[in-house]
Amino acid sequence: MTHVYDNILGLIGHTPLVKLNKVTKDISATVYAKLESYNPGHSTKDRIAIHIIEAAEKKGLLKPGSTIVETTSGNTGFSIAMVSIIKGYKCILAVSDKTKAEKIAYLKALGATVYICPANVAPDDPRSYYEVAKRIASEIPDSLYINQYFNELNIDAHYQSTGPEIWKQTEGKITHLIACTGTGGTLSGSAKFLKEQNPDIKIIGVDASGSILKGFKDTGKINSSDIHPYQIEGMGKNLIPSALLFDKIDEFVRVNDEMSAYRTREIALKEAIMGGYTTGAVVQGLLQYGNSHEFSTDDVVVAIFPDHGSRYITKVYSDQWMEEQGFINNGVHNYEEVFKT
Ligand code: PMP
Repeated sequence: MTHVYDNILGLIGHTPLVKLNKVTKDISATVYAKLESYNPGHSTKDRIAIHIIEAAEKKGLLKPGSTIVETTSGNTGFSIAMVSIIKGYKCILAVSDKTKAEKIAYLKALGATVYICPANVAPDDPRSYYEVAKRIASEIPDSLYINQYFNELNIDAHYQSTGPEIWKQTEGKITHLIACTGTGGTLSGSAKFLKEQNPDIKIIGVDASGSILKGFKDTGKINSSDIHPYQIEGMGKNLIPSALLFDKIDEFVRVNDEMSAYRTREIALKEAIMGGYTTGAVVQGLLQYGNSHEFSTDDVVVAIFPDHGSRYITKVYSDQWMEEQGFINNGVHNYEEVFKT
């Protein structure tokens, strides 16, 4: 018998690659999307949740009924909540107030306790979700703080799973890997593995306009003028995560809220792939990269699609939300060409 599992956690990883046939037609390379929404928690974060929790179990850090604590804009929370249910742990999450109400309801439906914290305060502010999670973890005995931004097991999860999968799926033919960076774990761990197989593989990070990651890569400094609020959830940062291995990344591109939103909608309309907001961001990043770099027809690009669009129905997939952002005016999309087939 195949596809029979002891519990839902058996489905983590082994996500498919799907060729993009329309949205990247201006790029001469073959472009594959790695659909991380095929994980049972519907995002790439399932990989780090199980990896970090099982590493703690091996070290004897967790007891039955222990509490797992994390800061999360959503996806890591779903994954930790899912793993916690199967393994018998409590789950406490500190989330940003940018997080949509339906995501919070989803987390609560998976048994998590959720603390909502302001997004636009400094990371060391006691109200920030980092500080709130740290305080809760220090107050509860036998708890585990996942600390995804500063946990090297975040990188290791992708070094052991995502990277090898991509290498195998492309039969070693991959020439470019592109992904949005939040913690940086997905791109860094995959890149570390892939560069060990072939150091010529180009690794491209996609950062959000409003975040400091690209500026830090380019100048070696945190440029506070780069920081401003933005809408895309799950990517970009106002601090430098240690899960982001800058030396493994060849180049960053920076994308904005508006074009990333259009691209997300375009991917749904033309490829029939309902991705999250960062799915649009990674394709937008690739198209921008393609404006200044030549691809050959032998090139094989893998773009990570981190999660599923069902989490964004009242955001990028809502015309009303798009209008509120000024991305649609009087019912007219600002970038009509995006929607032409
Ligand atoms: N996209 C989404 C929707 C995410 O939730 C995340 C994780 N924060 C990312 C992209 C970036 O992944 P990573 O943290 O591994 O860089």
